[in-house]
Amino acid sequence: MGQSHLLGPAEIRELAAELDVTPTKKLGQNFLHDPNTVRRIVAAAELDPSDRVVEVGPGLGSLTLGLLDTVESVTALEIDPRLAGRLPATVDARAAEFADRLTVVNADALQVARADLPVGPTALVANLPYNVSVPVLLHMLAELPSIRRVLVMVQKEVADRLAAQPGSKVYGVPSVKAAFYGDVSRAGTIGKHVFWPAPNIESGLVRIDVSDSAPRDLRETVFPLVDAAFAQRRKTLRSTLAGIYGSAAAAEDALRAAGIDPGLRGEKLTVADFIRLGEARHG
Ligand code: SAM
Repeated sequence: MGQSHLLGPAEIRELAAELDVTPTKKLGQNFLHDPNTVRRIVAAAELDPSDRVVEVGPGLGSLTLGLLDTVESVTALEIDPRLAGRLPATVDARAAEFADRLTVVNADALQVARADLPVGPTALVANLPYNVSVPVLLHMLAELPSIRRVLVMVQKEVADRLAAQPGSKVYGVPSVKAAFYGDVSRAGTIGKHVFWPAPNIESGLVRIDVSDSAPRDLRETVFPLVDAAFAQRRKTLRSTLAGIYGSAAAAEDALRAAGIDPGLRGEKLTVADFIRLGEARHG
């Protein structure tokens, strides 16, 4: 099938008018009205026909339509009831042959549990609402362990942060927590004018190839160490981790046992370092 079913500026405006939608900043509602960008995102995700995609925030359906002819199924999680309610009709009108591949769930992605989805997804592909992009991404990765591939569009600065390596100025909590699940990389930059309304900022694509060997059972031990290590960026690990270990001396012992210099700052530690610390605590 050709790609004429994708939504351009005229279709986006028509749908928004019909629904009487005034896009809200609070819900990060910037809708893609450029079929080329949709194709770029779908291509960057390198999906397989057998993939089952979960899409957060389908909005008016721009990306959803691009995904439906590529994969086995799409589960679309949308918080706005008007948008969730209209999506099946949009798909019926523009890609009826793939309509049975779509399930729409009217829910807050931050609250979603595996049981709310009809199938365990293998991929997360989304143009995420910017104000909650990192929490949504981390919640999806934690809650849906069947996900193997992630391709998300986020604010450009957030994309840089997510894919940052130790030592970089923007390396921080999101970088380590995303890397906990797999290999994180930048997959391109997207300008403002492919959206309606155009946001003030540029966007970036982030890809995660989720690792089968991510030590998920250690997450609840490792993530608090990461939060503490970056809470006071100028302090050394010996002091930032003192609260968790009970004292600076105990933190120092734990760091040395894991082969980490207690005089370093958190920004120097790789995810593997944090995992070694977590393993030792886990016992
Ligand atoms: N995917 C569409 C596109 O590319 O045109 C819309 C993307 S727009 C940046 C973000 C979408 O996420 C909006 O439709 C918004 O209503 C929805 N949204 C915002 N917060 C959400 C949440 N917590 N859970 C699910 N959807 C959310």
